[in-house]
Amino acid sequence: MEVFYDLIALGDLFIDPERNYKKIANLAMLTQSISNYESFISETDVREAWFFLSSVIEKYDSYHENGKGVQMMTIHAAKGLEFPVTIITSLKKDSFPMINKDPERKEDRIWPDDTYYTPNECLEYKTILKEENGELVHKTISIEEENRLNEEEKDRVLYVAMTRAADLLILSTVGETPEQIERVRKHTSKFDFNALKDVTIEEHYGNQDSDKLVMNYSKYTQYLSCPFKYDLGYNLGFVRTGQKYANRGTVFHEIMETVNLKLKENQEISIPELTDIVHDAYKSMFDIEESPEDYEEFKDNVINYYETYSKHMKVLEAELDFEIDMGDYIFNGAIDLIYQVGENEIVILDYKYAQYDDEHIDAYTKQLHLYAAALNELPEFSEYNVKKAVTYFVLGDYQHVVDITDEKNNKELECLNKVAKKIKQCTKFPKRFNSCKNCSYRMFCSI
Ligand code: SF4
Repeated sequence: MEVFYDLIALGDLFIDPERNYKKIANLAMLTQSISNYESFISETDVREAWFFLSSVIEKYDSYHENGKGVQMMTIHAAKGLEFPVTIITSLKKDSFPMINKDPERKEDRIWPDDTYYTPNECLEYKTILKEENGELVHKTISIEEENRLNEEEKDRVLYVAMTRAADLLILSTVGETPEQIERVRKHTSKFDFNALKDVTIEEHYGNQDSDKLVMNYSKYTQYLSCPFKYDLGYNLGFVRTGQKYANRGTVFHEIMETVNLKLKENQEISIPELTDIVHDAYKSMFDIEESPEDYEEFKDNVINYYETYSKHMKVLEAELDFEIDMGDYIFNGAIDLIYQVGENEIVILDYKYAQYDDEHIDAYTKQLHLYAAALNELPEFSEYNVKKAVTYFVLGDYQHVVDITDEKNNKELECLNKVAKKIKQCTKFPKRFNSCKNCSYRMFCSI
C-alpha cells in the first residue's frame, strides 16, 4: 500500500482534488483491492501485487457518484468490518468456504483461468514453526497435518464471515451443507434455526431512512481533525496504512465481549479457559505460528487486564450497540463495557489497543462524553447515573479516567450536531493541516 501511495504522490491529482474527484475516487477503489491482496496474499510482494491489479482492473466498474447498493466482498476483505445484515452465499461442502485441497496433489482443482493458477506439481508442502528442545524451528508438515490445518482454516474463514453480522446473518447453502455449518447448528441449541424461514428482511430493515446521515465517533473526530481526510476515508473509501494494531484491537474487543458477558452472568472464568478463548479468537485473524511472540504478548495483555481489573467488576453490559435518532441524523456507536460501582452509579469503559498518547486523549475524552450522553437516552439505563468514564490503553496497561457531567456531555453533543450539519451541507471538504503529521494520506495529499 505504501508503494502505491508513493506512486500516487508522483502525480499531481491532489493539487486540485475537486477537479480530479472521479480519478481520486477510482484510486480509492484500488486501495481496497491492494488491502485485500495484502490481507490474503502478501504484504511485501510488490511485483505480484502489480500483476494482481493489472489482471483485476478491467473487471472494475468505475466510481459512480451517490452509488448505493449491496456491498459484495470477499470474506478476507470483510475482516474487521461489521454490517447490520450479512449474507453468506452458496455455502457448499468441499467448495465454499474453501475448495478442498487434493492431499495427494494428483488432481488440479483450481480453475485453469484462475489468476493465480499454480500447477500442483509446483506446489511444495508448507513448513510450520514448531518447538523443539525449547527452540522454534521450521518443520515440513505431513499430509495429515496439512489437511488438519486446512480444516482449521475453513473454521477460521467461516468464523470471520459469520461474525461480521451485527443484527441478522443469512446463510445460504446449495447442495450438501458444509460440516462447519452443521457444527454451528449443534452448538447453538438455544437458537431456533427453523424460525429463520419466517424472517422477512423488508419487515426489519425496509423502513429505515437510508438517506439519513449516520454519524459515529470516528466520523466526528475525523471531520474535526481534517474534513478532507473525512472525505477520503468515509466518502471515497481510501484504505489507511498500518492496520496491524487495529486488527489486534478488533480481536481484543471480541475476547472482552465474551469475557464480559460471562461476568455479567456471574460465571467464573479460569485462566486456562481464558487462554482458550484468546487462542480461538486470535487464530481466527492471525497465523499464530508465523509470529508466536506477537501472540504471547497479546495473550499476556489480555490475562493481565482480566486479573487486574476485569474479574473484580460488576458488569451490567458489554459491547452495547446504541442508535439514537437525533432528528437530522442518526448517532450510533458501541460501548465496550458498562459496570456498576454504587447503587445507581455506573462507569463506562472503552478499550484502546494502543499506548497512551497525549495527542489523541482529547478525542478519546470527547468519545466518552458522547457515549455517556447516549446512555442517558436509553430507557434501560434511566435509573443509573454515569459517574465516570475510562479509556483503557491495553499497551502499557494504563487507565485514563474522566469525570462525567451533564454540562460537558451537552457541550459535546452540540458540537456533534454542528459537525453533522456541516457534513450534510458540504459540497467541498477543505484540507486542515493540524494533524497531517500522523495522517496516513500525507504521502500523497499535496500538503
Ligand atoms: S495529509 Fe493533512 S490535509 Fe491531507 S488529508 Fe491528511 S490531515 Fe488532511
